[in-house]
Amino acid sequence: MLSAVLRQGLLRGAAAACPMVARESLSASLIEPALTYLAAQGARLRFTTPVRGFHRVEERLTGLRIGNGEIIPITPRSRVILAVPPSAAQRLLPELTVPTESRAILNAHAVLPVPPDAGETPELLGLIDGTGEWFLRRGARVAITISAADSFRNWPEEKLGAALQTDLLRLYGCAPETLTLIWEKRATFAATPDQVALRPKARASALANLRLAGDWTDTGLPATLEGAIRSGIRAAEAWF
Ligand SMILES: Cc1cc2nc3c(=O)[nH]c(=O)nc-3n(C[C@H](O)[C@H](O)[C@H](O)COP(=O)(O)OP(=O)(O)OC[C@H]3O[C@@H](n4cnc5c(N)ncnc54)[C@H](O)[C@@H]3O)c2cc1C
Repeated sequence: MLSAVLRQGLLRGAAAACPMVARESLSASLIEPALTYLAAQGARLRFTTPVRGFHRVEERLTGLRIGNGEIIPITPRSRVILAVPPSAAQRLLPELTVPTESRAILNAHAVLPVPPDAGETPELLGLIDGTGEWFLRRGARVAITISAADSFRNWPEEKLGAALQTDLLRLYGCAPETLTLIWEKRATFAATPDQVALRPKARASALANLRLAGDWTDTGLPATLEGAIRSGIRAAEAWF
C-alpha cells in the first residue's frame, strides 16, 4: 500500500502529491454535492435506517430488511452496492471474508489564544518527530490527527495532552487555551499483510446483483477517503 501511495502520489510530481484539504468542511465539499446529485437523479434517501438483513432467492438479493421490519424489495433490474463497514458487511453476508483487526485514530482539537500569522504558518503541517502527526489549522483552531494511535491508548489523558501541547508550542509558539481529545477506536482496518489479504474484491459476494464498496475493500490503497471513493468506482465498474 505504501508503494501505491508513493507511485500514485509523490512520484507523479508536485501536483499529484499536493495534499487536499476541504475548503470549508467535508460536508460542504463532498456530502452536500453528493446529496444534491442524488436528489437530482430522483434517489430516495433514508438516513438512520440500518439494513438488518438480506432476503435472498438462490444467488440473488431480493430484499433489504430494515430496522422496523419493513422489507425494501430489490427488483430484478436493480443493482445493489453495499458500502457499510466490514463488521456490518459480515453480519449481512456471513460467508464474506473481511479484515477483522482495526486501528485507532486520535483527533485532538485545540484553540490557540490568537490565530498565528497566516503568511508564516501554513494551514497544514506534518510533524515527523513529535506526538501529533498532522496539524490542520483554521484561524486559531487546530485539528490534530494521530493515525494507528493504539500505542497511545494506555497513556493517561494528561500525558497525551502535555505531549500535544509541546507540539503546539513548537509549531505555533503558544500553548492552546483548550485541547479536546476524541478517540475513534476502530477507525481503520489494520494495515498488516495478514489483514490486507482479507480485503475482498468488489465482486466477492456470491450474490449476482450485489457489489461491495468501502475503504476496507481491495482498492490497493490504505483506509482513506480516496480509497473509499475508488472503491465506489470499482463497485460500479464491476457490473461490466
Ligand atoms: C477520526 C478519523 C479521521 C480520518 N481522517 C482522514 C483523513 O484526514 N483523510 C482521509 O482520506 N481519510 C480519513 N479518515 C478515513 C475516512 O474517514 C474513511 O476512509 C472513509 O470515511 C471511509 O468511507 P466508507 O464509505 O468506506 O465508510 P464509512 O464512512 O465508514 O461509511 C459506512 C457507512 O455505513 C453505515 N452503516 C453501517 N452499518 C449499516 C447498516 N447495517 N445499514 C446501513 N448503513 C450502515 C455507517 O453509518 C456509515 O455511514 C479518517 C477516519 C477517521 C475515523
